[in-house]
Amino acid sequence: MNNLRREIVRQLREARSVLVLTHYRPDGDAVGSQLALGLALQRTGKKVSLWNDDPVPAKFRFLPGSEQITTPSRQPRAFDVVVAVDSSTWSRLGTAAERIARRRCLINIDHHVSNERYGDLNWVEPNASATGQLVYRLIQTARWPIERDVATALFVALSTDTGSFSYANTTAESLRMAAKLVASGVDVGTVSRHVYESYPSARLHLLQRVLAELKLIHHRRIAYYWVTNEMLEESRAKREDIEGVIDYARSIDSVVVAILFEELPEPRRVRVSFRSKDRRVAVDAIAKQFGGGGHPEAAGARIEGAPATVERNVLAATRAALRAAGL
Ligand code: AMP
Ligand code: MN
Ligand code: MN
Repeated sequence: MNNLRREIVRQLREARSVLVLTHYRPDGDAVGSQLALGLALQRTGKKVSLWNDDPVPAKFRFLPGSEQITTPSRQPRAFDVVVAVDSSTWSRLGTAAERIARRRCLINIDHHVSNERYGDLNWVEPNASATGQLVYRLIQTARWPIERDVATALFVALSTDTGSFSYANTTAESLRMAAKLVASGVDVGTVSRHVYESYPSARLHLLQRVLAELKLIHHRRIAYYWVTNEMLEESRAKREDIEGVIDYARSIDSVVVAILFEELPEPRRVRVSFRSKDRRVAVDAIAKQFGGGGHPEAAGARIEGAPATVERNVLAATRAALRAAGL
């Protein structure tokens, strides 16, 4: 592992131009990891590009450097090294993947068990709480300084993927890392205000509509609801406001698996998010049956089909998983 990390550092040291990518619909770990690595590389004099098909969600735009994240260039461009962070598959990088004309080395840094190892160098650690934790170790291996802006981006990565240090993936190492980041200058109060307490009121209007149609089935162990295009239009909420909406279903005492169905703008496509509160039910295995993936306790998939059909199939698979676990 150490050799792999050293090889990654060597490739980055020798590069002049580096492209850092992450998955579309980026979450805090995606933006934080991409930005932390990008800023650290810039400080060592590299020419750095940061691409994403989707804009940085408003709650992360306070992060210094986030304005450098742009949509991929239309014309394919050449880079010495390309690094993908927090993306389990090549296709989740979106159109960026097609806009790379040439690259000497593709580095894949991630913490999803399901990672498809699409890089020339693949550093995948499912035990890491967040990809940001791996980026932190990489920066330490390279002995690049952890300045306040880098520390803040890494703190956001770690905080969001651990549910503010509350999920089962919170470890002694992630808490130690958080402490070191705070010592490097992270202003925790400011981060929390931006990330957890700066939602537009439209998100609460959306939430009202969504929660009104919450369903509890299978001895109240499965909770699910829909975010439809109509709900989004009526509440004037944005798609990025959907992130975290699933946590309300998850927070019910009897619930083992929470499911959020999101109607996508293109017809006959549904995005499904899963959360599990019980080790005996691994939701990435359910997501995988529909072409998706993720972690045992948080997973997702994009599924083709009419909404009612997708719902029926996903609920059937979820009931079966619960039954198999004796629940
Ligand atoms: P989400 O419900 O979108 O917050 O995603 C939860 C977890 O599942 C994250 O770790 C994602 O990386 C993963 N995930 C979500 N959607 C997909 C997908 N379509 N394919 C593979 N993994 C996914
Ligand atoms: Mn992510
Ligand atoms: Mn992650």
